[in-house]
Amino acid sequence: MSARIKVTDLVKTYGNNEVLKGVDLNVNNNEVVVIIGPSGSGKSTLLRTLNKLEAPTSGSIVVDGVDIADKSVDINKVRENIGMVFQHFNLFNNLSVGDNITLAPLQLGKKDKSAAVQQAQKLLETVGLADKIDQPVNSLSGGQKQRVAIARALAMEPDIMLFDEPTSALDPEMVGDVLQVMKNLASQGMTMIVVTHEMGFAKEVADRVVFVDEGKVQEQGTPEQIFNQPKNARLRDFLNKVL
Ligand code: ADP
Ligand code: MG
Repeated sequence: MSARIKVTDLVKTYGNNEVLKGVDLNVNNNEVVVIIGPSGSGKSTLLRTLNKLEAPTSGSIVVDGVDIADKSVDINKVRENIGMVFQHFNLFNNLSVGDNITLAPLQLGKKDKSAAVQQAQKLLETVGLADKIDQPVNSLSGGQKQRVAIARALAMEPDIMLFDEPTSALDPEMVGDVLQVMKNLASQGMTMIVVTHEMGFAKEVADRVVFVDEGKVQEQGTPEQIFNQPKNARLRDFLNKVL
C-alpha cells in the first residue's frame, strides 16, 4: 500500500480562528476514505487545502511525492490530478451540460473539440445522463446537476477525487443515484476522500472512516471499528446524534 496523500501537522487559521489544529492524514492508492464530523469542525477546509483552494498556515501536504503546500507548486497541475465535487455543484448554469464538461479540457488544451465532446458523452453515459449533453444545466434536477459535476471533474482524468458533502443539498429521492455513481467510481479503484453525513455509504463503501472534530482527526478506523466500537467520547456522542 503506497500513500498517495500524506498530510502532516496541517494547521489553518482564519484571523485568530484556528480551524485546523494539526491534522495528520494518509490516504493510500485506491482507498476510499470517508470523513465524518460535526458542522464547523474543519472538514471542508481540510478538503479545500488538499485541492489548493486554500493555502495552509503550516504543515505539509504531500501528494505523490510533491508538497503541494509549497507556493512554487503549479496549482493547475494539482487540480488536474485531484478532482473535486462540491455540495452546491458549482456548475456554470448558463452553459449546456456538455459545455460544462468540456470547458476545462478544452481550455487547458488537453483535448480537441471532437475528442472532448466524445469524452463528455461517454462520461454522461457512466453517470446515467446519456441524453442530456445538449440540455441547459438550468433544466436539470439537483441530483442530475451533481452527476454532471462528477462527470465534469472526471473529464480532467484525475486519479484522486474529493467529494464535499455531495448529497447534502439534494432532495432525498435524488441521493441514491449520486451515491451509486460514487460507489461505481470506488469499485473501479478511484482513490477518494468523501465528506458525508450518509452513514450508510460510509459503512458500505469506506475502507477507512476518519472522525474530525475541533480541527483534528480524533479517531479513525474501519467502518466496523468506528461505528461499532467507537473509543473517542466525542465520536460516540456524534454517532448518537446522527445514527
Ligand atoms: P465543516 O466543513 O466541518 O462544517 P468548515 O471547514 O467549513 O467546517 O469550517 C470550519 C470553521 O472555519 C468554521 O468556523 C468556519 O466559520 C471557518 N471558516 C471556513 N472557511 C472560512 C473562510 N473562508 N474565512 C473565515 N472562516 C472560515
Ligand atoms: Mg463543510
